[in-house]
Amino acid sequence: MTHADTAPAAAGSNASAPIGQQDCTQVPRFAGPPTFGLLPRIDQVEAERGPGSVDVKILGVPYDAGVSYRSGARFGPAHVRASSRLLRPYNQATDVFPFATQQVADCGDLGVNPFNIDEAIATIEKAADDLRADGAKLLTIGGDHTIALPMLRSLARDHGKIAVLHFDAHLDTWDTYFGAPYTHGTPFRRASEEGLLDLERCMHIGIRGPLYGKQDLEDDAVLGFQIVRSDDYQFKGIAHVIEKMRTRLGDAPVYVSVDIDVLDPAHAPGTGTPEAGGVTSRELLNSIRGLTGLNIVGAEIVEVAPAYDHAELTGLAAAQVGYEILSVLAANQAGATAPAGPVASDLIPKAE
Ligand code: MN
Ligand code: MN
Repeated sequence: MTHADTAPAAAGSNASAPIGQQDCTQVPRFAGPPTFGLLPRIDQVEAERGPGSVDVKILGVPYDAGVSYRSGARFGPAHVRASSRLLRPYNQATDVFPFATQQVADCGDLGVNPFNIDEAIATIEKAADDLRADGAKLLTIGGDHTIALPMLRSLARDHGKIAVLHFDAHLDTWDTYFGAPYTHGTPFRRASEEGLLDLERCMHIGIRGPLYGKQDLEDDAVLGFQIVRSDDYQFKGIAHVIEKMRTRLGDAPVYVSVDIDVLDPAHAPGTGTPEAGGVTSRELLNSIRGLTGLNIVGAEIVEVAPAYDHAELTGLAAAQVGYEILSVLAANQAGATAPAGPVASDLIPKAE
């Protein structure tokens, strides 16, 4: 294998080349450090390339005190990392080397209070501020969906109102549960109330399952969200979904929030609130590939609960979602303005 020979050189003229994955010709993929994608730790990168040299920081947030049904997403970061060992350096679907032209590093896990939601949210918000202070982007691995709120607070300070692209079976715009305002079912209502969201640009993808009533949908629209249903993938197709996303998001700063329960339980059983009739992992991956060229300012993958996973189905899907997000960020940094590969050909209108 000659990975180093085929990967393109670093973009900057003076910067040393990004430090990539463990050399798997020397140490096999099932061995070695438990970082995401066998990538270097942030302290290793900063020691070698200097402070401010990391383009994308991967942060684990092992927190699940906000869940309303099955608990266990606190073990999500370690599980997704363990399932990320097969991520090889070249993305053939989009013709991108996600670790060759940008520096990606694993920051390990954030220590958050498992008994105090308010304190946990404050800790996450401060960590997001600190880790992004040098201009790096964050890819967060949860953890339950509560963590979206502090991330959005941090991002809105720098970027203004955020367009949330939310992949989920659920709206997550409910008000309270047992009187609690901060749970994994409420982050986007709180974010909208706090003025963090661009009300013309947010959307949910993959919505399905029973609600409490029609009012849930009416409230959701007022809070700024457009809905693409899980069934739209079957009845309207992937090209329709991608066009709808790109039209809605426009040139706004986009936060990509992936709740792994957007996938059908057949593709992601390891999650806290599973709903039948979901998206396939292939549909989800191609949707993310369709985001190339959009102004993505951060992303998260949440709600992986390994105790309910089987044969790493959920972990592998979540790891690949992270890989596709990193591939989009690498393509964007290289100046791409539109999707490449099969997704792009699907977007070209067919001749009548
Ligand atoms: Mn969900
Ligand atoms: Mn969610």
